[in-house]
Amino acid sequence: MENNLHLYNTLTRKKEKFQPLHPSLVGMYVCGPTVYSDVHLGNCRTFVSFDLIFRYLKHLGFKVRYVRNITDAGHLEGDNDEGDDKFAKKAKLEQLEPMEIVQKYTLGFHDVLRLFNTLPPSIEPTATGHISEQIEMVQKIIANGYAYEVDGTVYFDVEKYVKDYDYTILTNRKLEDMLNNTRELGGQDEKHGRLDFALWIKAKPEHIMRWPSPWSVGFPGWHIECSAMSRKYLGDQFDIHGGGMDLAATHHTNEIAQSEACNHTAPAKYWMHTNMLTVNGARMSKSSGNGFLPHQLFTGDHPLLERGYSPMAVRFFMLQAHYRSTLDFSNEALDAADKGFKRLMTAVNLLDKLKPSKGKSAVDVADLRAKCYAAMDDDFNSPILIAELFEVVRSINSIYDGKATISTADLEELRAFVQHFVFDILGLQDDQLSSNDNVDEIMAIVIKLRDGAKQNKDFATSDRIREELNAIGIQLKDSKDGTLWNKI
Ligand code: AMP
Ligand code: ZN
Repeated sequence: MENNLHLYNTLTRKKEKFQPLHPSLVGMYVCGPTVYSDVHLGNCRTFVSFDLIFRYLKHLGFKVRYVRNITDAGHLEGDNDEGDDKFAKKAKLEQLEPMEIVQKYTLGFHDVLRLFNTLPPSIEPTATGHISEQIEMVQKIIANGYAYEVDGTVYFDVEKYVKDYDYTILTNRKLEDMLNNTRELGGQDEKHGRLDFALWIKAKPEHIMRWPSPWSVGFPGWHIECSAMSRKYLGDQFDIHGGGMDLAATHHTNEIAQSEACNHTAPAKYWMHTNMLTVNGARMSKSSGNGFLPHQLFTGDHPLLERGYSPMAVRFFMLQAHYRSTLDFSNEALDAADKGFKRLMTAVNLLDKLKPSKGKSAVDVADLRAKCYAAMDDDFNSPILIAELFEVVRSINSIYDGKATISTADLEELRAFVQHFVFDILGLQDDQLSSNDNVDEIMAIVIKLRDGAKQNKDFATSDRIREELNAIGIQLKDSKDGTLWNKI
């Protein structure tokens, strides 16, 4: 299948032409969430980025098998076989079964991603559902001579592996630096080498999530699940492996090692990494406490937020940055995105009202369309695509104002490609309020009336206005600069 897509491959550190292993089919694996707490907005950014990639690949006509796992076992607090099990710890705190924790946060994760209008993956396998595949893979790695057992725990033998393969291929670090930077970590007295990591861990008596295996009653290491599940659903070799940039150094490096040690082939042809959502320059994360929840962003209920924003305005905010750039959260940036999103939607709604003229078009539709494809073909460059779409907005407004003309055929083409890029590829949805041309003006009138009531100390009326708006999904927030509103 012909395509002109180029994507940045972390493995080679350059943009490459996309050539799937099998023409017209794409296998893509993305590391999913660890479901022991609510997903924060940073996690959502990564999944929205891969949603854009999934959507564009599909739009180009590829049959995509998109596998995104759920990590529901084996993830200890540290990335290197140290600390408590995240699920067991949370289960104790919330007085629930570990699998109740998994269920609760998996459902929450799905709800949030649905609000952001991300498409579900083709397969969403769980680590606990694939224990036997993980055991089988560990057995193969041992049989191939790249792992060893110590008292019921199995470790990957990095020293043996580096004799045959390149352990630093993904991040281009020096092996000595990796050795020097590795702290003394869990199981260090059992490990043969500092960089060795656990494939299977013998459960301590208090560890609840445990399974029988040839070595001990225990649980899988965190990294092996992705190697085992990608292998099961996409084969020993597949096209794209993705995840957040923070996963490259340890998790993905170890995934490559495990797959090579098992299958004697590198798993993915292209490795794609999304950059981080930051707050005041610091990575948003669960542990540093700067990770606010999507629903706080929608309601504005967080000290960092001046008001709430609709899920689509937030999606638009995310897409206005390239997936490989950091994106810093700020109220100003969200405000600007909200305005931009509304301007785009208003213009899209005008498309139906445009009238064609006889004769030639003043607007070069083919050129606009080609520029949109060029942006996405250049490593899924959504900010450039959005800039091109604002060119389209300008044309739509000129035609609507009678300052430019368009032929019947061109208008048809314009409607079709705008539809594709805005809804199918960027995955935006027209939320009802922003599609109403006058809603800002109407809300300004309502807020003015309520201000008048408050000045007259008629709090019954001002409260009623707030409550009735709330009932139809609009929230008012009083601030020092006046009253702001948003859709809940
Ligand atoms: P976790 O649930 O911590 O395993 O993370 C799920 C996904 O979110 C992984 O692909 C992470 O790389 C990604 N992620 C975590 N924090 C951020 C952030 N601040 N910005 C973007 N992606 C993130
Ligand atoms: Zn993974």
